[in-house]
Amino acid sequence: MTHPEPMKALVYHGPFDLRVEERPRPWATGPDDVVVRVRRTGICGTDIGIATGKYTATPGVVLGHESVAEVAETGPGVTDLPVGTPVVVNPTYYCGSCPPCRSGRENHCARKHETEAGVSADGLFAEYYLTTRTFLHPIPAGNDRPAMVLGEPLSCAMTGVRRLRLTPQLRAAVLGAGPMGVMYASLLAQQGLTGVLVEASPARAGALREALPGLWPVVGTLSEAAERLARPGTGLDVVVDTTGVLLEEALGVLNPGGQLLLVGLSGGTATIDPARIADNSIQVIGSIDSLGTFGDAVELLANGALPLDGAVTAEVPLEEFARAFALLGVDLEAGHRTEPTGHLKVCLTPATAGKEQ
Ligand SMILES: [Zn+2]
Ligand SMILES: [Zn+2]
Repeated sequence: MTHPEPMKALVYHGPFDLRVEERPRPWATGPDDVVVRVRRTGICGTDIGIATGKYTATPGVVLGHESVAEVAETGPGVTDLPVGTPVVVNPTYYCGSCPPCRSGRENHCARKHETEAGVSADGLFAEYYLTTRTFLHPIPAGNDRPAMVLGEPLSCAMTGVRRLRLTPQLRAAVLGAGPMGVMYASLLAQQGLTGVLVEASPARAGALREALPGLWPVVGTLSEAAERLARPGTGLDVVVDTTGVLLEEALGVLNPGGQLLLVGLSGGTATIDPARIADNSIQVIGSIDSLGTFGDAVELLANGALPLDGAVTAEVPLEEFARAFALLGVDLEAGHRTEPTGHLKVCLTPATAGKEQ
């Protein structure tokens, strides 16, 4: 069933071919269904990958997956989310009944390839979105900060951080100062580690220093990071690579017993000598999506424990999506990448956001 009034949504038709179109507005029909009215949705690296043909999405799908919204309509089984409640949306559906879900690995749900909001299922660059109660996290009253829109990326970073063994004296480098790098650096700093962010783009590094001055220093290369941080004759203890292309370099600066966390999906290849990993007792760890950390991420953001409000550097109306992508170094009209302008998290805002229904 669909609502008689249509809604506006940003639809993927192919690389560099995104269009705002009218789509049927969803109803809550099942007992646990919730329709939310989207307030803002962040553009992330995945969206840029999809828009530029580096990452596959289903043609015809509504993009977008990092959102703050408010409850617009609920099914009869939802009794604890009054209409108007502000919520952070967990876009990563899991079925709860497949073998990975039943063994506590919901981030590897067997149905993931067909249910990923904004990739293979309709997402949140839209005025309304249909989900179920399980995937909504209410924002505590009075704490609707700009950074709440980072709930999804922060929960992914928290899942990655949980896979590391951390003690405060460790020295760390986070590679890539995009939003994921910023999430990791803020979490590792909160755990007491000393570290730097490594970012090759001077524009991005400069913008980050300005937007989040309290965060770790930003340097241009990994060797600079090692030079700045390591004790004489040693290397780094923890490296988080959010770029997906710096594995070989990262192995070169790790201390014996060091931990390398890989979270980038750039699809490159790397040549490594396994003996180097064995001989140095290196741990190479992967992490994808979030597992049991969504509520914690929302709580951390709501209570301001991580100084991330400055990470949202622009809000752009949904209709002007091309301008938003341009801020992040994607010229949709010309069909190519451009130099990023130094923005961190750019959000799209539907026209209905903030208006009475
Ligand atoms: Zn994302
Ligand atoms: Zn499952």
